[in-house]
Amino acid sequence: MRRILILGSTGSIGRNTIRVIESLPERFQVVGLSAYSDTQTLLRQVDSLRPRYICLVDESSARRAKKSLSSSCYVFSGQKGLIDLIHKSKADTVVLAISGSSALLPLLEVIASRKTVILANKEALVIAGAIIMREIKKRQIRILPVDSEQSAIWQCLEGKNRGQIRKIYLTASGGPFKGYNYRQLKNISVQDVLSHPCWRMGRRITVDSATLMNKGLEIIEAMWLFDLELSQIEVIIHPEAIVHSMVEFHDGIILAQLSITDMRIPIQYALTYPQHLKNTLRPLNFFKLKNIHFQRPNVRMFPCLRLAISAAKQGGTMPCVLNAADEIVVGAFLNNRINFTDIPRVIASVMESHKSISDPSLDEILHTDNWARVRTEEIIRGY
Ligand code: NDP
Ligand code: MG
Repeated sequence: MRRILILGSTGSIGRNTIRVIESLPERFQVVGLSAYSDTQTLLRQVDSLRPRYICLVDESSARRAKKSLSSSCYVFSGQKGLIDLIHKSKADTVVLAISGSSALLPLLEVIASRKTVILANKEALVIAGAIIMREIKKRQIRILPVDSEQSAIWQCLEGKNRGQIRKIYLTASGGPFKGYNYRQLKNISVQDVLSHPCWRMGRRITVDSATLMNKGLEIIEAMWLFDLELSQIEVIIHPEAIVHSMVEFHDGIILAQLSITDMRIPIQYALTYPQHLKNTLRPLNFFKLKNIHFQRPNVRMFPCLRLAISAAKQGGTMPCVLNAADEIVVGAFLNNRINFTDIPRVIASVMESHKSISDPSLDEILHTDNWARVRTEEIIRGY
């Protein structure tokens, strides 16, 4: 039995992870769960999975949970509680499904305690990829990606010589607004964005998929995970979202990973690696699919992709600024404070007012993250 800790268990990835684990009860024991403030969902999960330890980062939510739980489940609270949970739960594998840059410090703690990391969160690698990969190498632990594109690349690279990669193709569904003109994009509502055609996900990643920022973040994520140059990564729009990404080798051979669009597939593979175990998901039906398409992304209409590429080129603290600005600006869009087309404009202004620090320390990254959030808020207030 593997002892699993799920950080961010109440989110979209967290809930899908639990569905996979419940379908393979003889293999996994859930020893800990965490959320930010969604007490109701977390308590329901405690009821069915019976972990010994949980954490609610929000203190008042933790107090509420304590009142409703028996003594057989210990409730940690706050950022420190999350770190205590990592140690006390004695998990051997941690699923990192916290959203945003808040995942960085818990991730570093998981690595320091030499547990296997199943990584869904992408922001931590975007903002501190060099530090994370250095620590992983130092502690000699495994990091197994869940993000469907990274899972695909990882699978295509199994047993291959990474020095023989010509390039990788990161596929993107293109979001719901591909083909829209500027006027149409300007009038997009929050509701339009939240109904993604292929994936059901958390709110920020759903908006990021519509602006193509998600693909931009994934470029940086892939550079760190697979030690690639920016010039080796090509984004390709593939609306059917069946090919999850591809690797092209020097001899012209291209390997791709295909499956239906369901996050339980890459989650299960990371949990059961290197095995391909039976599940109840419907198989891909090529005859129903009929056609699949590939197109070049339109960076003029979706400038977030261009901004992410520029941040990747500049390196240092610039990806951290990109991510922090995006997190704040997406929140402002979701609260109807700005238009969809303002998202890249605000991020570009924040990036312009930052001079990237190369090879930053953890403190410099945390400081930059904070600075970028404040700066983004200032700019949004001017809209
Ligand atoms: P959700 O917003 O659905 O869930 C986020 C989870 O993190 C929740 O459990 C939430 O708790 C918790 N959380 C939020 N903020 C904090 C914080 N400050 N400290 C501790 N915990 C916190 O996100 P997703 O599941 O969609 O995404 C999670 C990560 O996985 C993201 O980095 C995303 O980019 C990545 N990813 C997601 C995919 C998807 O299909 N959803 C696909 C590929 C990657 P609470 O519920 O209490 O707020
Ligand atoms: Mg993805």
